[in-house]
Amino acid sequence: MAERRRSWAEPFKIKMVELLKTTTPEARRHAIEQAGWNTFLLRSEDVYIDLLTDSGVSAMSDRQWAGMMRGDEAYAGSANFYHLRDTVEEIYSYRHTVPTHQGRGAEHLVSKLLIKPGDFVPGNMYFTTTRLHQELAGGAFVDVIIDNAHDPADPHPFKGNIDLEKLEALRARVGAERIPYVSLATAVNMAGGQPVSMANLRALRAWCDEHGIPIVHDMTRVAENAFFIQQREAGYRDRQVRDIVHEICALTEIATMSAKKDALVNIGGFLAMNDPDLYRRACDLVVVYEGLHTYGGLAGRDMEAMAIGIRESVDDNHIRARVGQVEYLGALLDRAGVPIVKPVGGHAVFLDARRILPHIPQHQFPAQALAAAIYLDSGVRSMERGAVSAGRDKETGENYMPSLELVRLTIPRRVYTQAHMDVVAESVIEVAGNAGQILGLRFAYEPEQLRFFLGRFEPVSPA
Ligand SMILES: *Cc1c(COP(=O)(O)O)cnc(C)c1O
Repeated sequence: MAERRRSWAEPFKIKMVELLKTTTPEARRHAIEQAGWNTFLLRSEDVYIDLLTDSGVSAMSDRQWAGMMRGDEAYAGSANFYHLRDTVEEIYSYRHTVPTHQGRGAEHLVSKLLIKPGDFVPGNMYFTTTRLHQELAGGAFVDVIIDNAHDPADPHPFKGNIDLEKLEALRARVGAERIPYVSLATAVNMAGGQPVSMANLRALRAWCDEHGIPIVHDMTRVAENAFFIQQREAGYRDRQVRDIVHEICALTEIATMSAKKDALVNIGGFLAMNDPDLYRRACDLVVVYEGLHTYGGLAGRDMEAMAIGIRESVDDNHIRARVGQVEYLGALLDRAGVPIVKPVGGHAVFLDARRILPHIPQHQFPAQALAAAIYLDSGVRSMERGAVSAGRDKETGENYMPSLELVRLTIPRRVYTQAHMDVVAESVIEVAGNAGQILGLRFAYEPEQLRFFLGRFEPVSPA
């Protein structure tokens, strides 16, 4: 155990660098106004350290780049597809793989295949694109995550867990036949990257078997979830992340993957499953929306990089350093007294905007305002995960007012150094210390769907 007290270091060295641009306060003010106070609308050139997302922004390894050169760009039956399919089966256990352009492509297919109008889809907290595809297919999302997940300060080690009583209450109310599947995310993004325990997953499996309901696993960050199980759950200390990943996946029968996260690629995803009949139907559908079933909107080289990235993503040294860097930033902020979601999750540190900006009511979007203020201070780009992301209720048109009003500092994999994390922490601490000056925002333009991406805002002048 002595080894555990030692520092971790990145399990790679750097072969090529991309120069960063520093920005001036005047240029940042101009840029955020042009962007309608929405960090999604900033140009990347105007950003210094980019913590908008961990999606598609990983640094690929020399092996992955070498794999790119081995792209088999055949329209049908690319060798890279078979490499990907075999890798998915070996590492994740799923027998059939349908490539898609990214995660939402897989969500679209699975929602269309399994949901009928009037169905209910329970899940451990919503995800923006996942819920939208469920709704577009005629389903209604029902949140069945444990209550602890909605409290940013609750130290529960597995805040991603499903509350089986909530699930059973839904079944008792609507009947198993109107629940096409349980939507299970590992390392729940919207809850702060919070893991699901293996014990919870086993209990869910038993409940689903009893009622004949399948599990659709959003496995976008399954390796990070597996690492937390290794660190926190009894009996997993000496197990490799790779084995734990396999065990998680083997407890579910269908999966959607955004390979732009865990799997260390810039683009790609897939839908995977064990049932040959569902696979056949998915193949029939993927040709309509994505491409032939052996490429699904991807180039051969993309599938090759993904296959190699999947293998790298489940390596213990990789995942320890990845999560270690996130925890490092979290500890800097926590020690300085900045309110963050705890425990720190796998891919990001989430700032509790409600507590940092108590003077801004939630309908003036404190998290959106805080993300803009951090950009103004230092050129660090983060994103809102609060009322703006939650959107409006489809039935009533009212704004959802989620209990979590957060700013996400999302760490790209293998991209930034610990010194970059120091710079980020300094900026956030500074902004949080002067938070009283920050103004709330209102929509200047509100898109109908996924409004956080393209919405524009303006500051609300103090009353
Ligand atoms: C990113 C993400 C998705 C959607 O994937 P895209 O590749 O962005 O389409 C789905 N679920 C989770 C948990 C995600 O983080």
